[in-house]
Amino acid sequence: MTQETGGFAAFNLNPNILAAVIATGYEEPSAIQQQSIPIIMAGHDMIGQAQTGTGKTAAFALPILHRIDPAKREPQALILAPTRELALQVATAFETYAKQMPGVTVVAVYGGAPMGPQLKAIRNGAQIVVATPGRLCDHLRRDEKVLATVNHLVLDEADEMLKLGFMDDLEVIFKALPATRQTVLFSATLPQSIRAIAERHLRDPQHVKIQTKTQTVTAIEQAHLLVHADQKTSAVLSLLEVEDFDALIMFVRTKQATLDLASALEAKGYKAAALNGDIAQNQRERVIDSLKDGRLDIVVATDVAARGLDVPRITHVFNVDMPYDPESYVHRIGRTGRAGREGRALLLVTPRERRMLQVIERVTGQKVAEVRLPDAQAVLDARIKKLTNSLAPLVADAESTHGDLLDRLTADIGCSPRALAAALLRKATNGQALTLAAIERERPLVPNSAPRERSSERTGDRPDRGDRERRAPVPLAEGRARCRTALGARDGIAAKNLLGAILNEGGLAREAIGRIQVRDSFSLVELPEDGLEKLLAKLKDTRVAGKQLKLRRYRED
Ligand code: AMP
Repeated sequence: MTQETGGFAAFNLNPNILAAVIATGYEEPSAIQQQSIPIIMAGHDMIGQAQTGTGKTAAFALPILHRIDPAKREPQALILAPTRELALQVATAFETYAKQMPGVTVVAVYGGAPMGPQLKAIRNGAQIVVATPGRLCDHLRRDEKVLATVNHLVLDEADEMLKLGFMDDLEVIFKALPATRQTVLFSATLPQSIRAIAERHLRDPQHVKIQTKTQTVTAIEQAHLLVHADQKTSAVLSLLEVEDFDALIMFVRTKQATLDLASALEAKGYKAAALNGDIAQNQRERVIDSLKDGRLDIVVATDVAARGLDVPRITHVFNVDMPYDPESYVHRIGRTGRAGREGRALLLVTPRERRMLQVIERVTGQKVAEVRLPDAQAVLDARIKKLTNSLAPLVADAESTHGDLLDRLTADIGCSPRALAAALLRKATNGQALTLAAIERERPLVPNSAPRERSSERTGDRPDRGDRERRAPVPLAEGRARCRTALGARDGIAAKNLLGAILNEGGLAREAIGRIQVRDSFSLVELPEDGLEKLLAKLKDTRVAGKQLKLRRYRED
């Protein structure tokens, strides 16, 4: 066990849970985990103020798993989440952390899927039930005793649940649970309505809030890029093309991610290495020395491994994975802009992490401007600039040393100096794409929404192969109309975002939405023909990934 996993070991969690946490590659608990896990393990009620991206799911999942009895085949913990997507995510997290706890099962209970199998899974002895309030109430109407054995309740994103109008459902659920249960409430904000719930339904709760002191980061130019998790590597590679960096540090969350990204960079010819808690101390020092003296240009690190790293050459910090809290963000980007130099920090933000971005902006008192991925023209310009910079210093005395040879070669070959210079350039650039068309051909096509979630599978979403390819038109189902939005993968859109936005704002049942196809520069969504105009009017102001959806009827002909 490395020194860093001691962070999780110190909680004295059930060894099977600790082993699963170590297997995920987490090196140390995030701030919210550090504070919440002991409180929940001790059985106290708790109010945690934290948003997505802080590690809040593990902050309650690990201690709850520790407290359940795997031998008892009955619901013991209930997690309520505002949306089906979050419920599925939380259920998956529980499954991951319970991987080495034989006999522990998790069931996700949400609307839009048949009730029978959900009820069966509960009755078959799932100890962990992750549910949306609406569907859970439907189950309670059929069987009011279904939650009678639950002694841990977690309200995840409580403020979102209230915003979605689940107040009444929550009251029904509270009544169906034993009064002696432990209750934990997580919420990004604590408006009066949440405080009122806490007062009525929590017993002597302990408060956990991650302190956010205002921090200043003046010498560093900051920007963010919206991107899906599965597009991060190709986004990083595109950004590197146009960023003028000397040395660069990239932050990711897990050891595995350091290895994966470092090898993707090496494969593209960058001098890159991984730095994580599993790497022996003397080897880590070697990596840092290499970054200092230029044998390496990029280090991909976890927060733990980068502790104390001070390399004046660093001009750029890429936050490839979101930090857990604003302090850690400020700490990370402070690796650049050393000794009064200017630095640049880029933050990759997945759609669900936008709230964390807002918190960072508030705490640092600075706007973190949005940037787009460079287009082919920008990549071409950057490549030519690099070529110019590398050749310019060679020109000065080349004519005196090699001019005569050039004359002789052109005479022998029987070509112009221009033809010979072009041939030498082709050789020197070693097949690198240096025209717009060639760059467009080689650019990785932005993948759709892989890794696919269960929700997108149901919508018939499939990865596609880019805009330029023609494909056979997909026949429309009876009663469906095809609609188009100008938002696509290059805007950081995936099918699940469109689905979420249309479901939430359009008030449709999930079954009403057909196939969703996300292309690079637009997307198509199948919606019910019946009431379409009204629905489009309802969605008029809807925004996805920060941009207006502007959904319109789409006619192929
Ligand atoms: P959450 O805030 O619960 O949505 O978690 C955000 C992301 O952080 C998830 O992808 C988790 O797998 C990851 N995560 C949570 N805790 C840790 C940790 N201690 N170390 C590394 N990654 C973590």
